Amino acid sequence: MGATGGVASTLNQNLDQSPWPRVCEKFKNEFGQHAFTTWLGQLGFNGIDGGTAELTAPTKFVRDWIQRHYAPRLKDFFSGEDPRVKALTIRLATRDAQANGTPAPMPAAAATDPADTGIGARTSESSALDPKYTFDSFVVGKSNELAYAAAKRISEAGEVVFNPLFLHGGVGLGKTHLMHAIAWEVRRSTPEKRVVYISAEKFMFEFIAALRFKDTHAFKQKFRSVDLLMVDDVQFIANKESTQEEFFHTFNALVDNRCQVVITADRSPTDLEGIQERIISRLGWGLVADIHPTDYELRLGILQSKAEQSRNVIVPAEVLEFLARRITSNVRELEGALNRVMAYATLVGRPITMDVTRDVLQDLIRANDRKLTIDEIQRAVADYFNLRLAEMLSERRARNIARPRQIAMYLSKQLTSRSLPEIGRRFGGRDHTTVMHAVRKVEDLRRDDSQMDDDITRLSRMLEG
Ligand code: ADP
Ligand code: MG
Repeated sequence: MGATGGVASTLNQNLDQSPWPRVCEKFKNEFGQHAFTTWLGQLGFNGIDGGTAELTAPTKFVRDWIQRHYAPRLKDFFSGEDPRVKALTIRLATRDAQANGTPAPMPAAAATDPADTGIGARTSESSALDPKYTFDSFVVGKSNELAYAAAKRISEAGEVVFNPLFLHGGVGLGKTHLMHAIAWEVRRSTPEKRVVYISAEKFMFEFIAALRFKDTHAFKQKFRSVDLLMVDDVQFIANKESTQEEFFHTFNALVDNRCQVVITADRSPTDLEGIQERIISRLGWGLVADIHPTDYELRLGILQSKAEQSRNVIVPAEVLEFLARRITSNVRELEGALNRVMAYATLVGRPITMDVTRDVLQDLIRANDRKLTIDEIQRAVADYFNLRLAEMLSERRARNIARPRQIAMYLSKQLTSRSLPEIGRRFGGRDHTTVMHAVRKVEDLRRDDSQMDDDITRLSRMLEG
């Protein structure tokens, strides 16, 4: 269901005269296919009324997000198509239009003890929640903004917002933290709701145990009578056929009951290998939000927030900055480094200084000093020029995309020891002559265009830390 579905169902006028398809095209050109599918593709166009273009959004979350991030540009796009358009409104679709058929009743709230995280299955319970993992302790930056907003929205919603929410990102970037935060928040606001948080691995073990005890009926009932199911790290059930099958049935049953499902994985649905096509496609139905690697500001923000929480030790700003600059792998390691420094200072009763820090973290710093990868360069350049990675690596030749792509190729050549053919391969299978051309082109640009030269200098400094 994309924009075209919305157009067909809401417009009675001749499609050729509608500005909507062209507005959608412009949106795609500017923000990319991914942003289109995630956001604009969910809207319907109602028409233009007295200079106001009217759109409808399926949920408040989608509406607010578009309002906040895209509304001014959307209005421009409309005005460009039809100069009479002076304003834009986005309304919520009515509930009737959303619910297809009779909504199934919520399962009876069965949790008696609000502190019970989940289900007392035969062999184990669903995993416990970490009291530190709350929304309050989660620091928001550009790289995790969407994931955070979506998680927050789900925890506040009285009804299903998008099903499932699929969060993905590398190790230690806060996926589990966000899931626990949802659970804490729901438990606080609506303790009668049955919330289950479980790792995919544990789900699998419980299922196997149920098979062994010939108790799959109870297993099914337990998982299917929840209001909110969160399954962490689903990449674990790749290649586990029967667990996948059960997971899929549970998942479908819950979605059909309009129960919220949240899933995490270390990669996107389409990159999950060894998981059946139909599962993958269904996982992508709701909202897919990726958590990108942290940037310097976010790392510093996280460190500051952690340092503030420990009142008995003072960590100088320069130490926090040093850590944020040098420990770039993931948040878990970053926290570990700070903890080590603080523990050391407390134990030996010395104030934390740069010298102490360098000393205590020698090994970690060396490990983080590893070589730059092409992947990191690509991400940094895409980020710098506000492009999506896929867009930058795409075939598109528009200057605003081709230029950053050439810069990324150039930096890959300058900052890594990779050969031209290798670099070409990593840039969507391009030929080595393309890379060579890019390198020359950027060299010329640096000479002739001081703004460009500044940009590139800044980028390489950032990359080299
Ligand atoms: P993942 O599940 O993605 O591997 P976790 O949720 O376990 O990562 O996060 C690893 C550690 O980093 C946790 O201690 C978590 O609290 C912390 N962390 C990650 N991202 C953030 C953030 N944005 N703000 C605060 N702490 C974070
Ligand atoms: Mg995790």
